[in-house]
Amino acid sequence: MQPLDSHYFDDIGLPGIEARLKADFDCLLYPGKNWVPPRKGVTDIVIVGGGMCGMLAWLSLTIGGMQNIRVLDRSQKGCEGPWLSYARMETLRSPKNLTGPAFGHGALTFQAWYRSQFGAEKWNSLDKIARPMWMDYLRWYRHILNVPIENQVSLNHVTHQGNLLRLEVSGEKNEIILCRKLIFATGRDGTGGPNIPNFVDNLSKQFWAHSADEIDFSSLRDKFVAVIGVGASAVDNAAEALENGATEVRHLIRRDKMPTVNKMMGIGNFGFTAGYAALPDKWRWRFMQYSFTTQTPPPRGSTLRVSRHKNAYFHFKKEITKIDRQGQKANISFTDGTSYLADFIILGTGFNIDPLARTEFGDTARNILLWKDVYSPPKGEENTELGQFPYLNHDFSFCEKEKNTASWLNNVHCFNFGASASLGKVSGDIPGISEGAAWLARGIGAALYSEDVEKHWQFLLNYKKPELLGDEWKPTELESNINQGKVA
Ligand SMILES: Cc1cc2nc3c(=O)[nH]c(=O)nc-3n(C[C@H](O)[C@H](O)[C@H](O)COP(=O)(O)OP(=O)(O)OC[C@H]3O[C@@H](n4cnc5c(N)ncnc54)[C@H](O)[C@@H]3O)c2cc1C
Repeated sequence: MQPLDSHYFDDIGLPGIEARLKADFDCLLYPGKNWVPPRKGVTDIVIVGGGMCGMLAWLSLTIGGMQNIRVLDRSQKGCEGPWLSYARMETLRSPKNLTGPAFGHGALTFQAWYRSQFGAEKWNSLDKIARPMWMDYLRWYRHILNVPIENQVSLNHVTHQGNLLRLEVSGEKNEIILCRKLIFATGRDGTGGPNIPNFVDNLSKQFWAHSADEIDFSSLRDKFVAVIGVGASAVDNAAEALENGATEVRHLIRRDKMPTVNKMMGIGNFGFTAGYAALPDKWRWRFMQYSFTTQTPPPRGSTLRVSRHKNAYFHFKKEITKIDRQGQKANISFTDGTSYLADFIILGTGFNIDPLARTEFGDTARNILLWKDVYSPPKGEENTELGQFPYLNHDFSFCEKEKNTASWLNNVHCFNFGASASLGKVSGDIPGISEGAAWLARGIGAALYSEDVEKHWQFLLNYKKPELLGDEWKPTELESNINQGKVA
């Protein structure tokens, strides 16, 4: 067999790659045969979130022949996800050749998209993917697949109406959508929200912001800025403040030293992706708890982006006890008795997983089964944060805490970072998401089919179209061959 031409995509331009993709999809009979019996006034599946995971979920479902789908996103067209808002890094952390949402199609990868426009030489010299360029790629992905995202449409509340989910939606007009399955492709904070430590509870918002907030960095010129934490977002926000002329930026870090090893990235492979979800609770907890405890270091490039400024500082073992207003400054006090006066504080404290922080479920969020409800870790492996993660079924659906109190939760699929304790890294970070989308489509397809089993049974009974017309054979009598000397 001839080796594949690794330069196939180079300089063929977007029309070239699009033609290739169309040919591939035609050969694969895309979209899959529509098999879900329609129900009047009912959408089979609603996907909330038109970012990478939402679009990929839509692709995997349509490949599987589920076509009565709506995709809603509250953001403006082309601005889905964090990439053009609060993501403030220069480049993605992930390597440039990640396959991400390509779902097994070389022509859908970032690499093909890039090489088709810029060629091999530029590809070879590219180090990491520039953040806005990743958004350009996602926009192209939406365009070429024709993902029907309805932008500036927000899901506000979910309840149920009989066996259906009842979604209260607002956009140009308010609407009630009845659907059978709901996919929560709502992003990094999709099962929770920003982690806001209580030491800012009584501090005026003029002194602080979370890294996921809109921040006017130009207003930080000539200011003393404190950044709480040293994770990826903390570091990116510090860099923005420094580049915008802050007098100084000080990372105030509770831990005693910088994590330097990205453990989970290091062990990423197909085995982990495929195997994690099937592990017993004990092992899943152990892997995740270890990862939480050892912590992911900020990317090297982002850290250097900060430390190349002489007025940037990293202070470890700085656990905050309280922050008080002192005139036009915020006075930050630490457990070691020291303090620091800041003009502005940026919380690089990440996100919490906490279904109650999502307004969409209302009070029913209390009914979502969490890891802390089902698993008691052994001594030394306790972790409150991890205990807050939803304990999901293998098709990403929520379980009820108390049986038959909110069984409609089984029809809501958590296809975002909140699924990672139960299913691993298949619904948030870029590398594993195609695998997750395949599981999701299989699970939802299976559920839709079994819920309609009576109808499908009837289709089987009713199906009468002959494959043979009756003129292909002739029945004859069987004559005994025993006494005809033909058998020894
Ligand atoms: C700052 C940052 C940097 C990251 N960098 C990397 C990286 O380098 N490599 C990597 O692998 N991963 C990275 N990630 C993790 C992950 O890849 C991203 O979070 C990615 O955006 C996940 O895609 P998504 O589709 O799940 O969510 P998003 O892209 O966040 O999309 C979710 C969408 O849901 C919509 N939405 C939410 N709630 C509602 C609602 N109620 N109604 C309507 N719409 C709603 C939002 O408007 C949003 O557009 C990063 C995450 C963050 C936050």
